[in-house]
Amino acid sequence: MKKTRHGLLVVVSSGSGAGKTTLCRNLLLRRKNLVFSISATTRSPRPGERDGREYFFVSEAAFRAMRKRGELLEWADVHGQFYGTPKAFIDRMCRAGRDVLLDIDVQGALQVKRRFPEAVLIFITTATFQELGRRLRSRHSENAGEIRRRLADARRELIFLDRYDYEVVNDRIPQAVKRLETILEAESLRIRR
Ligand code: 5GP
Repeated sequence: MKKTRHGLLVVVSSGSGAGKTTLCRNLLLRRKNLVFSISATTRSPRPGERDGREYFFVSEAAFRAMRKRGELLEWADVHGQFYGTPKAFIDRMCRAGRDVLLDIDVQGALQVKRRFPEAVLIFITTATFQELGRRLRSRHSENAGEIRRRLADARRELIFLDRYDYEVVNDRIPQAVKRLETILEAESLRIRR
C-alpha cells in the first residue's frame, strides 16, 4: 500500500511591502494541495480583513493563554504586536499529506526551521528599498512613523537572508509566482525526510 506523503511546511517571509501577500494568494490558487496557515495576532484588523480568514484577531490576554497552553508552533513580536502560528492545524494538514503555507516573519521562520529542519524557507525580496518604501506608502494603511519602522525592520530582516533556502525576487508577479511553484514542485519530488 502507498504510504500517505507527509505534507511540506513552506515558510514565506519578506520585508513588509514586498508583495508577499499577493504572491501567497496567487500560489494558493494555483496549488490545490497547498493550504494557508492562519496566524493569531493581537493587531487590529485592517479594512477588508475578516477574523478567521486573514488572521485570528485576539486580545493580548488570549494570545498569552494560547502561548502558555503550548498551542503555537512559533510566535514573535512583530512591529510591536504579537503574531503566532497555531500548531494543531499544521499537524493535521501535514499528516493528511497537505502542504502548508506560512506567511511569517524572520524570527518565526527561524524557529520553524529549528524545530523542522525539512521546512522550506523562501525569502521574497524587491529590487530596491526605494521600491519597498513606495509600495508601503501606496498601500495607505500605515502612517509615516509606522512606515519608517517597517523599513528599518525589513533592512534588519535582510541580514538573515542566508538562513533561507530560496530567494525569490518579486519583480513581476506572474514570474515570481512561477518561481514559487517551481520550488514547491521540486521540493515535493525530493527523496527524503
Ligand atoms: P501584517 O501585520 O502586515 O499582516 O504582518 C506583519 C508581519 O508579521 C509580516 O511579516 C507577516 O509575515 C508576519 N506574521 C504574520 N503572521 C505571523 C506569525 O504567525 N508568526 C510570525 N512570526 N510572524 C507572522
